[in-house]
Amino acid sequence: MSDALMNTYARADLAFERGEGPYLITHEGDRYLDFASGIAVTALGHAHPHLVNALQQQAARFWHCSNLFRIPEGERLAERLVAHSFADRVFFCNSGVEAFEAATKLVRKYFDDKGEPDRWQVITCNGAFHGRSLTAIAAAGNEKYMAGFAPHVPGFTQTAFGNLNELRHAITDETAAILVEPIQGEGGIRTPDLEYLRGLRQVCDEFGLLLVFDEIQCGMGRTGTLFAYEQAGIAPDVMMLAKGLGGGFPIGALLATEEVSASFGPGNHGTTFGGNPLAMACGNAVMDVMLDEGFLPQVKRVSHSLREKLDDLVRRHPQVYSEVRGMGLLLGLRGAVPNTELIAALRARGLLTVGAGENVIRLLPPLIITEAEAEAAVGILNSVAEAYGHAAE
Ligand SMILES: *Cc1c(COP(=O)(O)O)cnc(C)c1O
Repeated sequence: MSDALMNTYARADLAFERGEGPYLITHEGDRYLDFASGIAVTALGHAHPHLVNALQQQAARFWHCSNLFRIPEGERLAERLVAHSFADRVFFCNSGVEAFEAATKLVRKYFDDKGEPDRWQVITCNGAFHGRSLTAIAAAGNEKYMAGFAPHVPGFTQTAFGNLNELRHAITDETAAILVEPIQGEGGIRTPDLEYLRGLRQVCDEFGLLLVFDEIQCGMGRTGTLFAYEQAGIAPDVMMLAKGLGGGFPIGALLATEEVSASFGPGNHGTTFGGNPLAMACGNAVMDVMLDEGFLPQVKRVSHSLREKLDDLVRRHPQVYSEVRGMGLLLGLRGAVPNTELIAALRARGLLTVGAGENVIRLLPPLIITEAEAEAAVGILNSVAEAYGHAAE
C-alpha cells in the first residue's frame, strides 16, 4: 500500500475493479458480496443502470455552476424530499459532517433570531457519531475520536442513549436542542424503543427545544421506511441526510421545517460544491428508484426474511454471534469473539461487512438485494461460525 496516502485508515489489502449490483469484483475476477455498501452509501448497489445513465447524461451537459445561479435539478430534488418528509426546506452540501455543521449553525441562529442567544447548548447521546469535524467530535463526545484534538468545541452534553430521565435532568436554561441518531450506526446499531423517540419529541415540545435527527446512516430507506423517524410516528424539526442520498455520489442535506429554516437567509450559510448539477442528477436518480411504489415494500420483505435467518444463526451459534440488532437493512450482529476477527474471516470467504462499537459487525447490504443474495450472505456467516466451532473442538 502506498506511503503517499496519510495513514488514517487500517485498510484491508483489497482493491476492486468494478461492481455489479450487490457485488464488488477484483481485477482477478473474485466476487465479493458487498454488505458494507461503502458504509451505507451505495443503497442501490453498484453500477445501477438508472444511476449510471443519470450521471453520464449530466456529465456530458455541464458539471458545476455554483449556487450563484439556479440549479433546477436541485430544486426538484428538494421538492421531492419535502414532499416525502416533515420538512419544508432543504440545504444541500457534500457530506454528512457538513449537514451536521449546518444543522448546528441553524439551531444557534434560530434561537438568536428569537432573542434567546443564551440558548445554544445541544444535548446529544453517548455512543453517537456525527462526523469528524472539531464540532462533530465534540458533539459525540467519544474520547477515541477526541484524544489529541483539544481544546474541544464547547456546547454539547452527552446523556445515555435511550434514557429519557437522564436527558430531562440534563436540560438547562441554555439548552437549545436535542440531537440524536434514531438508530446509532457507528455506536453499534444501537436501536432504542420507539417510545424513546416519541419521548424525545415530547420533551422537546415541553421545553421548547428543537429536535434534530441525524439520519445520515439510518435514513434513505435503510430501515424500510424512507426515513427512520416515520417508524415512531413522530417528526423532528431538523434532519440531516447524506450517505444513501447520492447512491455513491457525495451529497449531504439539511432538512427543516419552515419555521426553523426561516433563520437562514442569504449569506448565513453556503457551500461551493454543495448541490451541484452532477450531485443533484444522482440524487434525483436515487429518488426515482426509491419512490417507486414497489421499492420500500420489497426492502421490508427481504429484511424480514434476512432478520429471521440471522435470528436463527444466533440461536445455532451463540458462541460466535451473540445478538442481532437493528431494523430493516440496518442490521448488526454482535460478536461473541472479536468483531475484527470475524470481519476478516467473512471477507476471506467473500462477504464484506463493517465493524461498529460494542463489538458489532454491521450488515448494510444495498437495498436492492434479493432473498437469494441475503441467503448467500447468511451462508457465509454460517460457514465462518462453523469454522470457529471446528477450531474449538
Ligand atoms: C457517516 C455518518 C456521519 C458523517 O458523515 P460523513 O459523510 O462521513 O461526514 C454523521 N452521522 C452519522 C450517523 C453517520 O453515520
